[in-house]
Amino acid sequence: MTMPTTASGNRGLQLEQGLIFELNTPGMTAVDLPPAPKVAERLGGLKNTKAIGLPGLSEPDVVRHYTRLSQKNYSIDSGFYPLGSCTMKHNPRLNEKMARLPGFADIHPFQPLSTVQGALELIDTCAQWLKELTGMTAVAMSPAAGAHGELCGLMCIKSAHEANGQGHRKIVLVPESAHGTNPATAALCGYTVEAIPANAEGRVDVAALKAHLRPQDGKMEIAAVMITNPNTCGLFERDCIAIAEAVHAAGAYFYMDGANYNAIVARLRIADLGVDAMHINLHKTFSTPHGGGGPGAGPTVLSAKLAPFAPVPMVVTAGSGFDVEEHAGHGEARQSYGRMKGYHGQFGVFVRAVAYMMAMGVDGLKQASGDAVLNANYLLARLSAELTPAFDGPCMHEAVFDDRFLKGTGVSTLDIAKALIDEGVHPPTMYFPLVVHGALLMEPTETESKATLDQFVNSLLSLARKAKSGTAEAMFKASPQLAPRRRLDETKAARKPVLRWLPPAGNHEGNGDTKREAAE
Ligand SMILES: *Cc1c(COP(=O)(O)O)cnc(C)c1O
Repeated sequence: MTMPTTASGNRGLQLEQGLIFELNTPGMTAVDLPPAPKVAERLGGLKNTKAIGLPGLSEPDVVRHYTRLSQKNYSIDSGFYPLGSCTMKHNPRLNEKMARLPGFADIHPFQPLSTVQGALELIDTCAQWLKELTGMTAVAMSPAAGAHGELCGLMCIKSAHEANGQGHRKIVLVPESAHGTNPATAALCGYTVEAIPANAEGRVDVAALKAHLRPQDGKMEIAAVMITNPNTCGLFERDCIAIAEAVHAAGAYFYMDGANYNAIVARLRIADLGVDAMHINLHKTFSTPHGGGGPGAGPTVLSAKLAPFAPVPMVVTAGSGFDVEEHAGHGEARQSYGRMKGYHGQFGVFVRAVAYMMAMGVDGLKQASGDAVLNANYLLARLSAELTPAFDGPCMHEAVFDDRFLKGTGVSTLDIAKALIDEGVHPPTMYFPLVVHGALLMEPTETESKATLDQFVNSLLSLARKAKSGTAEAMFKASPQLAPRRRLDETKAARKPVLRWLPPAGNHEGNGDTKREAAE
């Protein structure tokens, strides 16, 4: 099949258009301003005499340009978005409406506390739900994302070690399958990271973990263990209680990465696993649109041992209302490690989370985690007809396949992902987790219907059969063929992104630079 070419370069109703600077008609404007009144110049010769580099466009052209750009942005509101490790689920519109209520949206953190008691109560309500669901003693509400919550948890752990004369502990153990933010957070906190291998089942190798917990040169060096549960292979870590006992016996703390909490919420109490700290990605588990990088919120639940070190500001009860403890070293924040963010956290995300939790109820949350796991196992079962699951047995909220089914076909995981785009499906996460060769990691979430899942499965099964037929390698290498852009050089895009438009050489209008350059 050769693709037809068009005189305009447009395809269907997909228009090919330059950047807004390239659409420039000098002098064209969307507004008419009256001539400026004559005034004496007071700029002392500093008046700008060059063009300021804004493109000239009419109002309809501006509207069309940005509308088209927005339509190029695939999102959970346009279709199925099976990215593993991201939890791309539908977020009820009611929660958006709640977050926009003027009483929530139009307040300011500098207002007198007497005028924002309702907002403080909402933060406290969110905190109470999180404590109730996890069984943990306290929750730090200010972390602004999952990774920020990890930082909060490790800062509490570091403070606790220092308070106990254990400040020399410099090692954090992280499983090989961990999300990249885990080792990055430990390193940012000044720790050295040691990797714990996975066993053949895809779970933490407990014997290997215990071997790391021995003293080195007579001193215990391990500060903490960070474990994701369910892990990034979509599997439940069954040995958490044994791990917690070993970690605690070694005087270390047990950090749990709770980004996958949506698979277990309302089904088990994190505290019962012996966890000392865990962040919760409100934007993954409790509703907030987060495609495109935010905003999110990463409240971090803490055990009794770590609670005293929680960051400020803290919402505290005061008489019949609420107060905010702003300073470490005072009152309930006596041992706080300090402040990690301005203000009280991502308030709009708290509003959405509370609206979601109250609308769902604990029974609804339990059904959501059950349906998320059911949907992932449906994908696992049906896709196993042609694809090769990375691990035996059922999964939790995400299913992971390796690339054994592509062996000898000349087709790679990347080619399958690109061909899926032509099928109208956003590809799942590829080549992660790193412990799975050529991984395809897919998380359907609880909000997708059986019809949507079937359509996805049918596309993927048909591509797998085509790949195995041995006759479609060229088609795979050329895909995507129906998208506005074909196969891109992703390595170059990541290594040498062009982030800044500059006018073509020789055209000195605009911002004074003379060539397009690539940002290094
Ligand atoms: C998403 C995720 C994180 C990081 O959360 P952010 O909110 O993106 O900072 C950490 N660990 C796991 C397992 C995740 O899926």
